[in-house]
Amino acid sequence: MKRFELAVIGGGPAGMAAALEARKRGVSRIAILEREPELGGILQQCIHSGFGLTYFEEELTGPEYAERFIQLLRGSDIEVLTDTTILAIGTDRKLTAVNPVMGYFEILADSLILATGCREKTRDSIGIPGDRPAGVFTAGSAQRFMNREGGCIGRRAVILGSGDVGLIMARRLALEGCEVVAVAEARAVPTGLKRNVLQCLNDFGIPLLLSHTVTSIVGKERLEGVVLSQVDEHLQPIPDQSEFIECDALLLSVGLIPETDLAIQDGIPVHETQGGLLVDENLQCGAEGIFACGNAVRIFDLADSVSRQAERAGRSAAAYLAGRKSESAKEQAAAERSASI
Ligand SMILES: Cc1cc2nc3c(=O)[nH]c(=O)nc-3n(C[C@H](O)[C@H](O)[C@H](O)COP(=O)(O)OP(=O)(O)OC[C@H]3O[C@@H](n4cnc5c(N)ncnc54)[C@H](O)[C@@H]3O)c2cc1C
Repeated sequence: MKRFELAVIGGGPAGMAAALEARKRGVSRIAILEREPELGGILQQCIHSGFGLTYFEEELTGPEYAERFIQLLRGSDIEVLTDTTILAIGTDRKLTAVNPVMGYFEILADSLILATGCREKTRDSIGIPGDRPAGVFTAGSAQRFMNREGGCIGRRAVILGSGDVGLIMARRLALEGCEVVAVAEARAVPTGLKRNVLQCLNDFGIPLLLSHTVTSIVGKERLEGVVLSQVDEHLQPIPDQSEFIECDALLLSVGLIPETDLAIQDGIPVHETQGGLLVDENLQCGAEGIFACGNAVRIFDLADSVSRQAERAGRSAAAYLAGRKSESAKEQAAAERSASI
């Protein structure tokens, strides 16, 4: 069994900033546990610029932003275990983990920070009817496929949802020579940042169809097209206001969900409506010595805000550990006093 003062689950911007801050505050045995082969989290697939404007007062790409923290970690004594997936956590802060070198093993930590990020809503989450052909992607998986694996996802695409990931992918596809027929948004206003609507759609002449949604997916082997329908103020399709749009790729940018499965297994509470880990003002979860930060708590628009919040989690964990040490020093002194009487 490995033992640490602080174990941080997740090596994205939240986990990295939290670990570095805790180290700065005097925590000595820290580990970051990351299931991917490298640190950086989702930032490694965000090759566009727009990161770091408030945190570094510079415009960086996602990988450049991540690299700033990775360099600081390299210069520190924080242990980084990549390719390491945490399978379960206990409220007693015992973790079960697996990686290709050590196999299945346990970790005991005096304090934990959960920085597990989020996952994307899928076609099933929003219940789009129709066929189940190839060519339907979540926007983030398409981003990873294109930016990290060098794949081509299609030649004529429709994007459902005007969240930031969808807007950024509209521009990315256009830059790769794919025709983006439209970005459809069920609400009457776009949900992504205004700067992304301007820079990713308007600058590329990509139409934004507000109050529209996809009501059917058509295609046997490969996607052949989608039915786009206008919706009313209750987001219900308006009869006779639908049209078939030919396309071979559909990207879904329909929301992100905090990744809380590990915590739920052990009964650590989550927010009833937002689904993120429930935290107090010190970012402590409903279990002593377990803290959380980043998208696992709530979905953030900007990585810069994630880094700042994560630093608070690092400070809280350090304060908790300092409190524990002083308690146990007092107990030891009392025990020594009573032994000498
Ligand atoms: C597809 C997508 C695109 C985005 N694009 C932008 C953008 O362009 N600009 C911007 O500012 N923000 C963007 N964001 C927002 C971005 O998520 C946040 O800014 C930031 O990356 C969140 O940091 P995080 O550390 O909380 O999560 P993440 O970056 O997701 O990191 C979480 C890490 O935890 C690891 N992990 C999870 N579970 C386990 C486990 N059981 N064991 C071990 N490791 C685990 C994951 O592998 C991951 O590396 C995007 C988000 C998504 C999902």
